Amino acid sequence: MEHSICTLGSHSALQILRGAKDEGFKTIVLCKQGTEEVYQQFGVADEIIRMPCFKDLPKHADELIKKKAIIIPHASLIEYTGNDEVMKLKVPYFGNKKVLEWESDRSLQREWLEKSGLKLPEIFASPKDIKKSVIVKFHGAKGGKGYFVARNEADFKAKIVNHPNEKYVIQEYIIGVPMYIHYFYSPLLDEVEIMSFDKRYESNVDSLGRISARDQIALEKVDPSYVIVGNIPLVIRESFLPQVLEMGKRVVAVSKKIAPPGIWGPFCLETILTPEMQFCVFEISARIVAGTNPYVNGSPYTWLRYNEPMSTGRRIAREIKNAIAQKKLPMVIQ
Ligand code: ATP
Repeated sequence: MEHSICTLGSHSALQILRGAKDEGFKTIVLCKQGTEEVYQQFGVADEIIRMPCFKDLPKHADELIKKKAIIIPHASLIEYTGNDEVMKLKVPYFGNKKVLEWESDRSLQREWLEKSGLKLPEIFASPKDIKKSVIVKFHGAKGGKGYFVARNEADFKAKIVNHPNEKYVIQEYIIGVPMYIHYFYSPLLDEVEIMSFDKRYESNVDSLGRISARDQIALEKVDPSYVIVGNIPLVIRESFLPQVLEMGKRVVAVSKKIAPPGIWGPFCLETILTPEMQFCVFEISARIVAGTNPYVNGSPYTWLRYNEPMSTGRRIAREIKNAIAQKKLPMVIQ
């Protein structure tokens, strides 16, 4: 294969690179010095580019272009490189960069999801408006660090003092179970595929139940935090699948209108599934999510469809390979 696949050594790089190798591509990983051993040990990278820090990726653009590399973005790549630098990057990029703007701006993202007819948590413009339990989220607080739950305005005021000068959004707290839905939209097939599902393992919220309420009260100031430390695979009740598929299709259809030619490749709807069996969508990730990492060898759903191990990383490489074979590469890269 003439082209190579490259990504930043973090997040879901192992899966992306392994999938690319399985599809016959050469692979390049850009690593922060000191982290390369993992990529060597798992044998996923044909080439390792070492950088003093993650945000140096743009400095390697010319070298990557010469190597006919195609960059596969993941959340860490976007976070460390920064939206502006990603927009300027000349290295071929898998995905529609216009979607980045819709995803990174909270109100644009909400508009996209609302236009898709999805149910979203209510937003309270001011602490005075809090009428029910809320979750307070900070801008750019990656991994849920510092988020807190508040019952009312007084509770909010007592807790926000620990976060001076931070921008936040006050969102209705939805009671239900978190359900992260992983999709793949193939522009070549014009089809939305259900890839897998996960739930997150977050510290300390996933452990609070290990001590009784009495002891929680005794341990002063135990507030839940939502720092992601891992992902847990799951399968969903089968009768939900038609609704899941419909939600994914609507998001893709709306993206074609708001950011032509629309989203392609992997994306994830982050939802809370309520006892009323309603999906409440609180976020969209417009690329591969780390929740697909348990499925390096494929998920139950990709097994049904492909009958061979098909991770999301490999599905990306397959789309690129098919696009090259059909002379349609510009349809999937920018
Ligand atoms: P990102 O996916 O951009 O990294 P994040 O990790 O910073 O986002 P979120 O995923 O938005 O944060 O939320 C963190 C945690 O809070 C998750 O466990 C999620 O299930 C939970 N959560 C988020 N919004 C709500 C909500 N409206 N109601 C109940 N729980 C929520």
